[in-house]
Amino acid sequence: MLTTQPPQKKQKVDDGSNSLFHTFLQNVENDRIKAATSVSEFKLNKKRIKNLTSTNDVPKWTESILYWMTREQRVNDNWSLLYAQSLALKNKVPLHVCFCLQKKFMGATIRHYKFMLKGLQEVAEMCETLNISFHLLSGEGKDLVPQLVEKFKIGAVVVDFSPLRVPLMWIEGLKKNVPNGVPIFQVDAHNIVPCWVASDKLEYGARTIRNKINSKLDEFLTHFPSVMKHPFTSKQKPEKTDWMEIESSLEVDRTVPEVSWAEPGYKAGMKMLFEFCEKRLKLFNSKRNDPTANALSNLSPWFHFGHISIQRCILVVKSYKGKHKESVDSFCEEAIVRRELADNFCFYNKNYDNIDGAYDWAKKTLNDHKKDKRQYIYTKEELEKSKTHDDLWNSAQIQLFKEGKMHGFLRMYWAKKILEWTPSPEIALETAIYLNDKYSMDGRDPNGFVGCMWSICGIHDQGWREREVFGKIRYMNYEGCKRKFDVAAFVARYGGKVHHKKSK
Ligand SMILES: Cc1cc2nc3c(=O)[nH]c(=O)nc-3n(C[C@H](O)[C@H](O)[C@H](O)COP(=O)(O)OP(=O)(O)OC[C@H]3O[C@@H](n4cnc5c(N)ncnc54)[C@H](O)[C@@H]3O)c2cc1C
Repeated sequence: MLTTQPPQKKQKVDDGSNSLFHTFLQNVENDRIKAATSVSEFKLNKKRIKNLTSTNDVPKWTESILYWMTREQRVNDNWSLLYAQSLALKNKVPLHVCFCLQKKFMGATIRHYKFMLKGLQEVAEMCETLNISFHLLSGEGKDLVPQLVEKFKIGAVVVDFSPLRVPLMWIEGLKKNVPNGVPIFQVDAHNIVPCWVASDKLEYGARTIRNKINSKLDEFLTHFPSVMKHPFTSKQKPEKTDWMEIESSLEVDRTVPEVSWAEPGYKAGMKMLFEFCEKRLKLFNSKRNDPTANALSNLSPWFHFGHISIQRCILVVKSYKGKHKESVDSFCEEAIVRRELADNFCFYNKNYDNIDGAYDWAKKTLNDHKKDKRQYIYTKEELEKSKTHDDLWNSAQIQLFKEGKMHGFLRMYWAKKILEWTPSPEIALETAIYLNDKYSMDGRDPNGFVGCMWSICGIHDQGWREREVFGKIRYMNYEGCKRKFDVAAFVARYGGKVHHKKSK
């Protein structure tokens, strides 16, 4: 019998938790007020910021400052926005924020776009109350941002950091197109220890980066000030955004529906954090590998879209250390060390999503076993439709399809079985990334690329006893899952059926 439930839709009845949540939010706001009375007085750690140009100073002619928001789609607890505002205050000019929406993006579906657009709508509303001009632009930032720079006489552009190929290319394009004399400042507002500070090289695994990160937390795990109501108003108002029109113009797969348990935006993300701390955190250490228990934070969709700050979550979770020490420590290991290790991998390894990015031992062993007979071979379509002989795998795939999030433990099993049941490691990796990115709310993330690379190519892992197909890559099987958790209960919940297929 399952004792807990999968992520649920918000309860309508107020059982008192709403007022507790209100107090929780208020406490967070009080922490911001304590951090600094104003953004201009707050000393932002300069190691978080990289100047991408040879110009250091904001030019005298500046009439405004721009923050090009990409990975960090929020107003609160956002170092990029705070830095942009501090520059605007120093220069006594208006502050602009823009987001450049692409009609399609790395296989994202309407499930992802709706989550993102609703979050951006909240950002737009918050910017309006803070007297910050928000522009939702349609097209490529490398072309649109320079146009804004010209139109509003922008004297500096602040950008987010992401280690992934496409956003890195956006920034390269921007550098070419922004006029000389306008500095571009990049802020790592995603990682607690900025990626380039944590390490200047590709790390081998958690054990080699852990201390590099943890030893810098005193310096970087600091409190955020509030974004203030901006005192300088832009002469020209931004163009009104027609959110419906924007949505209908998207060129994306509309067959993957929204999920009901994950409401987008800062407030909904903070609610998930609040519920995690109050109800599930106590189980995190002991039950996080049990897919039938409700022990995870479920925060990854909000982290991925930047709707809430991971640093904020860590500050909040750490305040529960007196009650749940082991769980707080385990959560920090996952959300700081493992997550920042994933950014390190993608930043320093340009082959972060293909077999060439694997260690030599892993490439060799996968190659040695490439021709091994596979007992089962499934097509992408069969996998996508949960049509394998394994009811646990099918149930996990149904969870991914329906809820847009597969339990973290099962993600490993799921990806390793794709290696076992497809013709080659290359096809396995391509299929795992495709399915993960198509259905998972947190897809297209460094964590996802690394999760697939860990499962299929042994990244951040070691060699294990050699066996068919896997070679020395760590193996997982159904029996092992049965020893860890109640597989039958998980299967009963998601209804994965055994599909018979003749073995090859
Ligand atoms: C095959 C595979 C695919 C994955 N795809 C993704 C993905 O697309 N996006 C994604 O964010 N994560 C991915 N992960 C990593 C991990 O499974 C998820 O981060 C986690 O399940 C998200 O759920 P949660 O927020 O409830 O996690 P919790 O267990 O509550 O952890 C809190 C946070 O810690 C971080 N974290 C947890 N586990 C890991 C990990 N193993 N590596 C890096 N960071 C971690 C995440 O930011 C997570 O939100 C994948 C893992 C595997 C094995």
